[in-house]
Amino acid sequence: MKKIQHIRGIFLVISICILYFGINYAISLKKNVVVPPPPPPPLEIPIVLYTGKIYHVFFHSLIIYPELAFHSGGDSQGYQDYMVTKSEFEKILPTLYARNFILIDAHSLVTENPDGTVTKKDLYIPVGKKPLILSLDDVNYYTTKRLHGFANKLVLDADGNIATEVTTPEKQTVVTKNGDTIPIIDDFIKAHPDFSWKGAKGIIAVTGYQGILGYDTENRNAPKYASEVEKATTIVKRLKETGWIFASHSYSHESPFRNDSISLGELTRDTELWDKDVRPLVGDTDIFVGPFGQVFQPYEARRNYLVSKGFKILFGVGMDLYLGYFPKYMMMDRANIDGIRIVKTPYLLTDYFNPQDVIDPARGVK
Ligand SMILES: [Zn+2]
Repeated sequence: MKKIQHIRGIFLVISICILYFGINYAISLKKNVVVPPPPPPPLEIPIVLYTGKIYHVFFHSLIIYPELAFHSGGDSQGYQDYMVTKSEFEKILPTLYARNFILIDAHSLVTENPDGTVTKKDLYIPVGKKPLILSLDDVNYYTTKRLHGFANKLVLDADGNIATEVTTPEKQTVVTKNGDTIPIIDDFIKAHPDFSWKGAKGIIAVTGYQGILGYDTENRNAPKYASEVEKATTIVKRLKETGWIFASHSYSHESPFRNDSISLGELTRDTELWDKDVRPLVGDTDIFVGPFGQVFQPYEARRNYLVSKGFKILFGVGMDLYLGYFPKYMMMDRANIDGIRIVKTPYLLTDYFNPQDVIDPARGVK
């Protein structure tokens, strides 16, 4: 009898166990619990001393509506020559990434010594990458370009990120994330963090004569002056938080820069205006981006003046990857990526992308 009870007991325990594991198995099936495999270890890309060419490209504001820009009377040719369209830029950017360019901060090329001199700094980047400095000229959204197919201004979107305010050809004003280079680059780097070395993005070169970033920060007597300054300052803060840095592009960008006729006195007045109106908004900078590429000749009084004002990095325009170190500053040329290059001298751009693959049919080039 005892034996039978014992066997029953064992049978009961076994039954309970089967039931328990069975139910658990059924629940686990129902929940479809799949244990993920452990993530692969992150790829260790060696960081090496880079000794090759250093690249620098610049863009102007993007044409979002070629149908407006290329049919806006007397300005159309300038837009054809000096700008790229949104469609072109959205093809250029992934190509730069695919060709292993990586954005770097220009300051990573310069050591500033305690005695005020500068020397070349060793650049260490992930192996296989090519260092690229990116600058954006005239991020001012001049009033003369309004309704010509460009963004009106930089704004913050609902998430507090940089976006663009755009007026469509149907005269609807909307906030978008692809109305100019900056938000497009921000989103691209979010998706491809290895396109940016140590968080570097680009240099925003601004003048001052019609305000900055689309805000009227020039006209001190305007009733909305204080609120425009406040809005511009908010945008500057967000840009700096997200890896962008600022440069002077002169205050006036006037034609005497282009034909080299600007006098030292005029340059002084222009520089002082930028100091008074723009520097308080964008903060201190040691980068001067020459208007029309003009940074004058070495050891010339006007260049010496710029250097005496604290500019330790001067940028001109040229396709030859020129980079020179002088006792108190570094000077570099930048490749202009614009309609002139894409249409007239595409062979100069083949290090960066294939111009035939990006050209916007809206240019009407056969
Ligand atoms: Zn310019």
